[in-house]
Amino acid sequence: MNHEEIEKLLFNIPKVELHCHLELAYRKSTMMEWAIEDGLEIKSEDDFAKEFLIKEPMQDLPSVLKKFLQTRDRLSSLERIERLSFEACEDMYLKSNVRILELRYAPSFTLEVFPELGADNLHEAIVKGCKRAELTYPMAVGLICTLQRIKSLKENMYWTDFAIGRKGEFLAVDLADDEVGYPPEPFAPIFSKAKAAGLGVTIHAGEPNLPQAPKNILTSIDLLHADRIGHGVQAIHDEAVIHRLVDEGVVLELCPTSNWLTEAVPSIEEHPLKKLYDLGVRTTINSDDPGVMDIDLMDEYRIAYNILGFNVEQLNQCNAWAVEASYICDDVKEKVWPKDIT
Ligand SMILES: [Zn+2]
Repeated sequence: MNHEEIEKLLFNIPKVELHCHLELAYRKSTMMEWAIEDGLEIKSEDDFAKEFLIKEPMQDLPSVLKKFLQTRDRLSSLERIERLSFEACEDMYLKSNVRILELRYAPSFTLEVFPELGADNLHEAIVKGCKRAELTYPMAVGLICTLQRIKSLKENMYWTDFAIGRKGEFLAVDLADDEVGYPPEPFAPIFSKAKAAGLGVTIHAGEPNLPQAPKNILTSIDLLHADRIGHGVQAIHDEAVIHRLVDEGVVLELCPTSNWLTEAVPSIEEHPLKKLYDLGVRTTINSDDPGVMDIDLMDEYRIAYNILGFNVEQLNQCNAWAVEASYICDDVKEKVWPKDIT
């Protein structure tokens, strides 16, 4: 097959995206427009890339953090947030043929710098952007409320109640940020409450390449009631963890480029996505932070097919697991998901 045929083959796979952070899922041209509007010294695409994009493995954490914050600091109005949300959905559909999309956002992240927006207004602007996309394209969009490990338990309990109060629009809660400094255990009461209220639970765990990472996956399942794991890439180093994932059918939300850029894996070629798949783990393929990492979901499928050795049937299987694991209602999923996939 030539390049064009492979592109067509991969694009035509109907896709599910389960792990994408809305705040970092901007369209590049829009973010550049906002940066210029806000008076930043951006005269070219190169200037923009230097200030906003992460294209090489992150050796210098402060500069990476600066890029995240530069992005967040542009989310200063409800108009921008609605547009960000709509375009994140639109790009998923048009560029990668995504039919089922779960976007996650942390109210505490944006409101920390723009408290005047108000949590209800922020949430409504996001819902409005996603609804507009659902009306425009044959896609289903659901939201996950991300809690930040670096915030206090009290604040995270507040946002959990916020998510519970908007159940239906929020389908699940998530725990993100620094897994090294903030292990999962203390967050157990928060996720017990969310689970009891009927929300789904997905936890970032087993992401950094450190000895305790695989254990965090089990703690997230056992204590935090995780039904899905964000990343979980380090499971590959622990047979007992792999057995649990296989036996219980726990879905991993894997994000190859992101795992390479954060140095969770030494290289794209060594990403264990295919190995985990071959061992029977329910692997799904996701983009994590497509804006700031300058990728779209298609790039992850190119990696899976061209580098990691997946065939189309196996990629369809990953999507079938992702459809099943998506927190979006079955009848909504059915309307947008093609029935004749082999
Ligand atoms: Zn993530």
